[in-house]
Amino acid sequence: MPKNFYETTDKAIELLNRRATKRFEDAKDKAAKDGFDELSVLSVARELYDQLEADNRQVYLELAQERYQEAEPHGEEPPDLAWLLALLAAYNAVTKYQYTNEVERKRQYTAEGINSSTAKVTEFRRGLHYWAGLTADYADIVTDESTLKSYRDAGVRRVRWVTVGDEKVCETCRERNGKVYSINAIPPKPHRRCRCIFQPIMK
Ligand SMILES: [Zn+2]
Repeated sequence: MPKNFYETTDKAIELLNRRATKRFEDAKDKAAKDGFDELSVLSVARELYDQLEADNRQVYLELAQERYQEAEPHGEEPPDLAWLLALLAAYNAVTKYQYTNEVERKRQYTAEGINSSTAKVTEFRRGLHYWAGLTADYADIVTDESTLKSYRDAGVRRVRWVTVGDEKVCETCRERNGKVYSINAIPPKPHRRCRCIFQPIMK
């Protein structure tokens, strides 16, 4: 398996983090101009998270489509926006929440944090930090799910769990290393940012 399996993923995460940093910076300037007026903060947060969500949606879709084609073997029905939205709206066993709900929760949390704190700038920074975590988690999930869709579409029925093999591999992953699972019954990854991969078992 190529060592750079998550290379496209990491590039997408980097791009999104750069954009988010700029978005939070602009939002902070805008709110500051209004003297951090409570209502202004709410509307700035609303706009900010709408933009962040749109950025993620666009880059995740590109990532999913790229991974789909990179996967070997790959199918003929690349993921579309409906596929992505369904994935983001579904409960995820790794993060233990629905992305869509979590975006809303993060928006409220940031807006309330800014409004109730005297350290307004710190609250913006905190919001960015949490957003970056969510973005990275779901970039990995989009990568794995689009890869599995690609395999399934190509007729793959079973996959082998393969760890990256470095010292950071957790005990659960180490135990699963080399195990073969039905492609529709793979246990959820045991933790966020798990970089184990699924190798297709060819017939
Ligand atoms: Zn792992």
